[in-house]
Amino acid sequence: MQFSDFGLERRLMSTVEHLGFNEPTQIQQQAIPAAMQGHDLIASSKTGSGKTLAFIIPALQRLTKNRALSKRDPRVVILTPTRELAKQVFTQLRLFTANTQFKAVLILGGENFNDQVKVLEKDPHFIVATPGRLADHLTQGHFYLNGLELLILDEADRMLDLGFSKELSQINKAADHRKRQTLLFSATLDHAQVNEFATELLTKPKRIAIEAGHTEHKDISKRFYLADNLSQKEALLQHFLSTEESQQVIIFTATRSDTERLSALLSEQDVNAVALSGELNQSQRNQIMDSFAKGQHKVLVTTDLASRGLDLVNVSHVINFDMPKHTEEFVHRIGRTGRAGTKGDAISLVGPNDWLSFKNVEAFLQQTISFDKVAGIKAKFKGLKPKKAKVVKAKVDTSKAQKTATKKKTRVIKKTFVDLQDVGAMKIKKRNKPLSAQQIEDSSEQEND
Ligand code: ADP
Ligand code: MG
Repeated sequence: MQFSDFGLERRLMSTVEHLGFNEPTQIQQQAIPAAMQGHDLIASSKTGSGKTLAFIIPALQRLTKNRALSKRDPRVVILTPTRELAKQVFTQLRLFTANTQFKAVLILGGENFNDQVKVLEKDPHFIVATPGRLADHLTQGHFYLNGLELLILDEADRMLDLGFSKELSQINKAADHRKRQTLLFSATLDHAQVNEFATELLTKPKRIAIEAGHTEHKDISKRFYLADNLSQKEALLQHFLSTEESQQVIIFTATRSDTERLSALLSEQDVNAVALSGELNQSQRNQIMDSFAKGQHKVLVTTDLASRGLDLVNVSHVINFDMPKHTEEFVHRIGRTGRAGTKGDAISLVGPNDWLSFKNVEAFLQQTISFDKVAGIKAKFKGLKPKKAKVVKAKVDTSKAQKTATKKKTRVIKKTFVDLQDVGAMKIKKRNKPLSAQQIEDSSEQEND
């Protein structure tokens, strides 16, 4: 199949050709025609498989072919969970709107509010935004959504995880008319909250799932290493950075403060590293992302702030210095490499504090994961076992638990591992007690868009 088979409007087709895209990816082959027919979509496909064009192309086609419902209101709103991703989507969109009459604007949290009011007064056709700030402008009446034709939620599940459901509902209600079309995209859309939300937002949606989130990503090779503690993780990290043949590397840590600490440590070791976290102001964030994208740094140390959507072509390695709190983020983090057919490596370090998350990832991926070893860095930690193996087994195997959906399964597993004992390194058991739910919550990353 070729892009020319979609019957795209002439100028849109010539932009696609000009950008060098010939063959649509699988998600594009299915989502573009379905969206062009006017269907609402719940669409998922693996990371790096071209979801952005799968919504940008039908959006432009619709705007070109259909008459606007309103002269002033935006016709397309695209929402993303982070400012960095919104910027990237906006950049892609601009390639398509550059030679057209369509105006596209970017509305992000952390940037000057009054400047945005002026921009909105110019009645743009497209708004790419993070939900919090856009909802603020809506509340204050800086624009209306009665004429909105397309609402697109990129990484929809993450926006719900970050607690944006109120803002999304508000935006939805402000554009609640029969002609509106809604498209949901992500690599992981099969959790219960998304389904609930989809019922509120979408009308008779078509589901397109090319590969589920847990499906093996053939271009990303995954390795896991056990570590007793922080200093052993640092030794492993140093080993990988000095021995792996890598281009650029993204390292994910559990907390904001760890990004700073680790990037300072790497800098001392003469590694060109930079830290990106939600704590920085927007211009610092922009500057760091720009310079990393240009290849001016070898390593980006970050949190789940950068787990979603970012398309950085030279990232050959992702290192999970800590395992993610939200299981799905594992898939998204490692998906920062191995994009658009290139190969990538994903290395995960698993210490006692990561064990619960690790088991959840293992359950999510539906695989039994074995650990690799580095000569000279030997972990005593061998994993945590439930104390009362028999009781635990009975719990997991009850027919009730088996009937429940994946989410519930994960919950059972989480519960199972609450009461843990360290079987590999009894000596460090006390010090490395798994984090309580509250501690995990306290240390997590929050976006405040
Ligand atoms: P996803 O959102 O699925 O993670 P992106 O939309 O960010 O993926 O696209 C990943 C990369 O693939 C981008 O660099 C993009 O330019 C490229 N790409 C998208 N569509 C095609 C295509 N049809 N052929 C080749 N490359 C593509
Ligand atoms: Mg994407």
